[in-house]
Order: sequence, then C-alpha cells, then structure tokens
Amino acid sequence: MAVKIQQCPHCQSSNIVKNGKTRHHNQRVKCHDCGKTRALNPKKEPLDWQTMERSLRERLSLRGIARVFKVSLETVLLLVKTIFDVLL
Ligand SMILES: [Zn+2]
Repeated sequence: MAVKIQQCPHCQSSNIVKNGKTRHHNQRVKCHDCGKTRALNPKKEPLDWQTMERSLRERLSLRGIARVFKVSLETVLLLVKTIFDVLL
C-alpha cells in the first residue's frame, strides 16, 4: 500500500511505501525510485554536512563545531578525514 504522506527527501519522488518500524517505533518508509529508506518522523534532523564543512573551512575549532552542531568530536574528525581523503 503506497503512502502518499510525504515525498522522498533524496529524489522528491512520491512513490514511497511503508517499510517496517525503526527501533524507536517510528514508521519507516522506502522509496521505490532511489531505494533509500527513512523514518517518517525522525526525532533528530539529518546533519547539515555542508554547513559543517563550511565551518571547518572557516577555521572554527573542531570542538567548537562539535558543540554548535551537537555532534561528537569523533563525528567532526570523520568529516575532516573524509575531506582529506577527497583532496588527496
Ligand atoms: Zn527516493
């Protein structure tokens, strides 16, 4: 049964169906066009990686970025590693 409540956040398709529940008992949906799954009403918003990267390029401290975006220092270090892997 197709769910017509929302669009896929990745490809904006409305061809999404119910796909079980998350471990927090939220409804999970799957997009038939791009194949990605997502919770319908996630408790946390997805991370804004582009703004985090821009903050890093503006030379904010790693711990400062972690505080502002409410993520762990390890998450910021993962972003740094990803950027360096792309550059090198
Ligand atoms: Zn999609």
